[in-house]
Amino acid sequence: MPDISIRIQGVAGRITLNRPKALNALTYDMATAIEAAIDAWRDDPAVQLVVIDAEGDRAFCAGGDIADLYASGTKGDFAYGRKFWADEYRLNAKLAEYPKPTVSLMQGFTMGGGVGVGCHLGTRIVGDSSQIAMPECGIGLVPDVGGSLILARAPGRLGEYLGTTAGRMGAADAILAGFADAYIPEPEWPALIAALESGDLPAIEKAAQTPADGTLEPLRGQIDAMFAGETLGDIVNLLKAEDSEFAARTLKALNRNSPLAMGCAVEMIHRLRQGTPDIRRALELEYRFTYRAMEKGDFLEGIRAAIIDKDRNPQWKHGLDALPSVAVSQMLLPLGADTLNFEEETTMQIAFIGLGNMGAPMAANLATAGHDVTGFDTAGVTAEGVTSAATAEEAVKGADVVITMLPNGQILRSVAAQIIPHMDKGAALVDCSTVDVESARAVAEQATRAGLLAVDAPVSGGVGGATAGTLTFMCGGSPAAFAKAEPLFDIMGQKAVHCGDAGAGQSAKICNNMILGVTMIATCEAFALADKLGLDRQKMFDVVSTSSGYSWSMNAYCPAPGVGPTSPADNDYKPGFAAELMLKDLRLSQQAAEAVDADTPMGQAAAALYEAFVESEGGKGMDFSAMLPRFEKRGRD
Ligand code: NAD
Repeated sequence: MPDISIRIQGVAGRITLNRPKALNALTYDMATAIEAAIDAWRDDPAVQLVVIDAEGDRAFCAGGDIADLYASGTKGDFAYGRKFWADEYRLNAKLAEYPKPTVSLMQGFTMGGGVGVGCHLGTRIVGDSSQIAMPECGIGLVPDVGGSLILARAPGRLGEYLGTTAGRMGAADAILAGFADAYIPEPEWPALIAALESGDLPAIEKAAQTPADGTLEPLRGQIDAMFAGETLGDIVNLLKAEDSEFAARTLKALNRNSPLAMGCAVEMIHRLRQGTPDIRRALELEYRFTYRAMEKGDFLEGIRAAIIDKDRNPQWKHGLDALPSVAVSQMLLPLGADTLNFEEETTMQIAFIGLGNMGAPMAANLATAGHDVTGFDTAGVTAEGVTSAATAEEAVKGADVVITMLPNGQILRSVAAQIIPHMDKGAALVDCSTVDVESARAVAEQATRAGLLAVDAPVSGGVGGATAGTLTFMCGGSPAAFAKAEPLFDIMGQKAVHCGDAGAGQSAKICNNMILGVTMIATCEAFALADKLGLDRQKMFDVVSTSSGYSWSMNAYCPAPGVGPTSPADNDYKPGFAAELMLKDLRLSQQAAEAVDADTPMGQAAAALYEAFVESEGGKGMDFSAMLPRFEKRGRD
């Protein structure tokens, strides 16, 4: 995925946020990718530590990508936001509790969602450009992503001050308030990262220096005095009664932000200070607010004023002097059944479009595994355990994952155009059909533009593999998209290979099937030659299957009846894998070869032979291994 780079370098799991033009703002996709990576590295002995940094010099991560939240919330869809926050908070908890050393390097702006990714790690490094803040109250949210925990632990009343005013912290202030651990000048970071990649954690301590003085230390007396009250009202009253430049400046900052959010922030910090604050308690409390933020809070109005209309004139629900305590209590009441539980969803809502020979058994396997599967097929067919929908649009409504298993790229494009506008943001569109690379890429692009995850995941293994749940999936798409679909691949198949970006799965599939077409023809023509040379077919199999001529076509799918393992040849060449499907795949390979100017003479010859076989030699409806009787009947011309 271009927005984030995830790799292992040396002994370090490396995550680099890579959206510098958007100040590395965290998207849903990026958060999902980080979670998948740290999950994979937790028990991977090759990864001894995790280092998170970001491209560009303006920001480590200036927050969460909130445009999608606004778009769904203004339509009255609060479910997307709630899921976004629940998933993001689970990531924050995992980062805070990670069992291996973790290091973040945070240049420029680190705000909101960025604090959640960078400021819970074991060692947090800042430099001269660092500006850390929890500015959520400015858009009607409380300091979240676990930020309330750091604020509750900050010395004196710094937490209340920073959480309500959204004040920015340079290196020294961030270290004082507990958002960072070490100051190291940014020119030294590349060498430090190289040392970390070789496992040298003590390099941090060696490189750490004393930062220039911050602005908070001299203000601590005033902050502790003014922010000592029980409620936001107490704080405002004290500031108003104080005749100082600090009080005037601070009141001005509070006047900009949502009183409801600030009142709740103060209350949350106080609650967290009772007992031992921990990340899960903090996130659970934050989620009570964010769960209600769109419906009952100032959040949508806050984004409108700051980001959409940019009038900087939000009409908050309450005045700074008139925040009823009941409003704070109501936002922070426990959520009952909807309490944040940090669990990953195990039962998914799946839509399955195309319930033909392959799709029906694949969908049935997903239903048997306990998923909630709704299916649609224009032929009106259905599958065991699958609820039928009247239309494709109805099937995809509310689905976490939509799987398509359709005849070709043209049909895929038209189905995608039909369903994408009806899919929930953050849902995944997984196409398992075999289609041309161009269609796969076009559909993925359309899906990504609509805020969806997309995977092209063609399969190998045929109807037998689809029924037995032993397919192999060849996948293209972002790491986050692949991670979302992977548990489903595990049910429908035995192996899923993430081959690269969008279209990579189809590229792998057509290359594989070009080899299959060519080797099947070679195997069949060799049998026909062996026949004419008077060689016994069983002896031919015994030799070739254990010699250098062996292949899947010979060893696993022998085209000679009565020889080798049972195959369609033993069933009068009924498919199996139909010759016309092989012709389709060979044509796709030649179409792709033409597009990229690749020389594929054997693939071309195989395509021509299957074309003749299907279109004029009675091969239609036969298995693709029926090339053997075709060769048997023929001489050299
Ligand atoms: P199929 O023809 O049996 O199934 C396709 C289904 O799609 C049909 O039931 C059809 O009614 C339905 N359909 C067509 N247009 C539709 C639309 N607009 N909306 C909803 N449904 C629609 O084909 P299959 O054998 O299941 O193969 C499906 C895909 O899998 C193909 O791309 C094929 O190349 C690939 N594939 C097949 C095999 C195999 O052995 N059959 C193996 C690997 C890959």
